[in-house]
Amino acid sequence: MNFKLTDEQAKLRQEFFDVCQELAKNKPKGFTGLEGRYDTEEGWQYHLDCARKMAQRGWLCLGWPKEYGGQGTRMDKVFLAEATGYYDVPGVDVFGVDMLAPTLLETASDEIKREFLPSIRSGERQWCELWSEPNAGSDLAGLTTTAVRKGDEYVINGQKTWSTGAHRGHWAFALVRTQTNVDRKQKGLTFILFDMKTPGVTVKPLYYMNRGHLYNEVFLDDVHVPVKNVVGKEGDGWQVTQALASFERSNLNSIMAMHKQFEMLIGYCNETKVEGQPLAKNPIIRNRLAQIACDLMAARTLAYRIADAQSKHQMLAFDASAVKIFAGELWSRLNMTALDILGVYGQVELSKWSPFEGFFQTWYQQSFVWNISMGTNEIQRNIIAWAGLGLPRMK
Ligand SMILES: Cc1cc2nc3c(=O)[nH]c(=O)nc-3n(C[C@H](O)[C@H](O)[C@H](O)COP(=O)(O)OP(=O)(O)OC[C@H]3O[C@@H](n4cnc5c(N)ncnc54)[C@H](O)[C@@H]3O)c2cc1C
Repeated sequence: MNFKLTDEQAKLRQEFFDVCQELAKNKPKGFTGLEGRYDTEEGWQYHLDCARKMAQRGWLCLGWPKEYGGQGTRMDKVFLAEATGYYDVPGVDVFGVDMLAPTLLETASDEIKREFLPSIRSGERQWCELWSEPNAGSDLAGLTTTAVRKGDEYVINGQKTWSTGAHRGHWAFALVRTQTNVDRKQKGLTFILFDMKTPGVTVKPLYYMNRGHLYNEVFLDDVHVPVKNVVGKEGDGWQVTQALASFERSNLNSIMAMHKQFEMLIGYCNETKVEGQPLAKNPIIRNRLAQIACDLMAARTLAYRIADAQSKHQMLAFDASAVKIFAGELWSRLNMTALDILGVYGQVELSKWSPFEGFFQTWYQQSFVWNISMGTNEIQRNIIAWAGLGLPRMK
């Protein structure tokens, strides 16, 4: 791909950065990442407000075909992701805008697209993902939530878990079993959409150790969902899920968030003196920072490559797996390096002694999430081995 931006692209990218810089000024205190938007009502309202402002500019439908109200290109969407990541600004629903919309555009019927895309484009309807279950995470196809057809409805029963933002999301996309008598467990699964207010849906929080609320368990008891809400065909949900997973894993905004964190660290090393010398003159620190800079450049190049492949419909599943592993592990390394440099002060939150309000320790803890969510890194390595390198598949 050609990495040089056209004048028009450069101008638009700058506009994204300028607007996000403005939006960042209204950020609630302590707001960061996904936790920021889902944990508190204040953070959620800030997210919705940013969504409205982005929707007014037509930024929640970048790269969609014009017939569905879209504007711009998929590369424009990449530039927006860079800007939101860099300024840690919400507004783009990761489930609705980043994952579901491109999946619907590739796999859904016209009827579904016309019904569900407008409210994603306007930012009014926020989504959550109901895939994992207590006994089905890596082995997702082993899920046991059932959907039994009765007339023009399915009746869904089961339990989902680790459902990010399900206590805030208005609608869910879920993977359920519609057929049990199958020769491969990937068959007989169906991808379906439903309102989280449907009777029978119960959301219970799964709190962090610090009482932060991002995840949930979702119980589904006789939940009636119209058959017309199926995406793709009944029993073909695995294909839809695979399409969505490739959008889920190519996560450029997180890479730009790391760039910002890295800049903060560089600033700190330049400004902070130990025994009369700036930390930036310490050869060990310089060496570690230089390595992170190389890795960041590689991660960003990988993510651009994926965005380019997606825009040309040449996406390979293992490309997304590669960037997911590399960027996730880099995030831990970056924040570990920061904490080594900041020393014990880096672990203190909201004190005059804590540089950056303790954000580096928060980001370090958050970084491990990336190595598990969206399919663990062990599973991604397996995908690269068999789908990318042609090594024998492990059963
Ligand atoms: C922060 C976060 C957010 C999430 N958000 C959502 C969400 O919104 N919606 C949703 O549906 N799910 C969500 N999940 C669930 C996530 O997709 C699962 O946690 C993940 O797929 C792993 O499944 P598991 O937790 O059941 O672990 P398991 O599958 O039980 O795995 C346990 C360990 O065994 C390893 N392992 C398992 N099988 C193999 C194998 N074949 N080869 C090698 N190693 C293996 C794994 O890598 C892992 O280290 C989220 C998870 C996290 C951590």
